[in-house]
Amino acid sequence: MSSLFLAQACFFGYHQQRQVKAAAESIMKSPARKREPQTLTVLGIETSCDETSAAVVRDGALLSNITATQLFHSAYGGVVPELASRAHQQRIVPVVDEALRAAGVEKKDLDAIAAVYGPGLVGSILVGLSFGKAMALGLGIPFVGVNHMEAHIVSNLIEAPKPDFPFVNLTVSGGHTQLVLVKGALEYELLGETKDDAVGEAFDKVAKMLGLGYPGGPLIDRYAAKGDRTFVKFPRPYLEEGSLEFSFSGLKTAVLYYLKKIGFQKVQHRVVELNPEGYEEFLANVCASFQAAVIDVLVDKTTLAAKRCGVKDIAVAGGVAANSELRKRMQQAAEYFGLRVFIPKFEYCTDNGAMVAMVGFLKSTDGQTSSLELTAEPSLALH
Ligand code: ADP
Ligand code: MG
Repeated sequence: MSSLFLAQACFFGYHQQRQVKAAAESIMKSPARKREPQTLTVLGIETSCDETSAAVVRDGALLSNITATQLFHSAYGGVVPELASRAHQQRIVPVVDEALRAAGVEKKDLDAIAAVYGPGLVGSILVGLSFGKAMALGLGIPFVGVNHMEAHIVSNLIEAPKPDFPFVNLTVSGGHTQLVLVKGALEYELLGETKDDAVGEAFDKVAKMLGLGYPGGPLIDRYAAKGDRTFVKFPRPYLEEGSLEFSFSGLKTAVLYYLKKIGFQKVQHRVVELNPEGYEEFLANVCASFQAAVIDVLVDKTTLAAKRCGVKDIAVAGGVAANSELRKRMQQAAEYFGLRVFIPKFEYCTDNGAMVAMVGFLKSTDGQTSSLELTAEPSLALH
């Protein structure tokens, strides 16, 4: 290789690196970002629970996001880990193929592959992680391991409008409840998290007690919209004064005791026979009362965190961010306190490859890649 060619190659490499970095830095800043030349293409893979999802991000812009949700778990009242893992194995190839096809990208166009390595179900994580590492090895490109909780936060940075740094993020999903101060791209400080049940888990368990089915969150949301939130006064688990930690298992138990106290099983049968409308109204009232208790705590702690950290923007992520009352109440509270609220589109709230590909893009541009020795970490913390 001539020295002139080498110098040109070095210059091009440096130039390209600068362009990509500039694109990454501008992702969150300008809502109508001018499209840079296509420079870095990342495939993101998510298989940490019961969604098999893959997405392509090029130069900070999302090109595709394909998600296959494992609906069959509803028959079991919750996610069955072995079945989830097997379903990921069956779906990973078609889902990745479809993500590439929809993006108009071929494997040879990829510059890096990102996959979640925790937290989540180990058998599920292993499918996407092994697939991603093997594909990166086969294509001779870097692999980037992604923290699922970090990906949820970054779901707010996929599409405009995006929050400005620093902002406070509330992640509420089936497995997690976290308040995080997002200081900058890839810079986080955990402010508080749940000591026991996650919010989504509490929704799912209460729905089960009421015989509503799984996943319970969307069903409770729907019933609550027609109910009276003052029907039962459930406790608000605020913990110590000023605490940013959460606890939802006591509230869940309070619902259980309430249902036992009123003899719910008997009521269920008697009222259904005699008065189906009355029964529906009863369910709506209990759902509204439970949901109001959860949302009071989530909204109050998130606005307290914003005040304490002196930030103007708050964001909500995770499957429970789809809750219509939470969205409404967070918006109202934000208006009251002069804050701005950001909640991603539904497809970026629940588990998705887009948020993983976006973290992969940001990390790649920052020079952060992972070893192929990286293993699944079911209890991975947010660093
Ligand atoms: P995880 O990956 O931790 O399982 P997800 O981010 O995929 O969580 O979100 C799934 C959770 O979101 C479930 O617990 C589900 O009940 C909850 N959920 C979905 N939609 C709603 C809603 N409208 N209201 C409340 N909870 C919801
Ligand atoms: Mg999740």
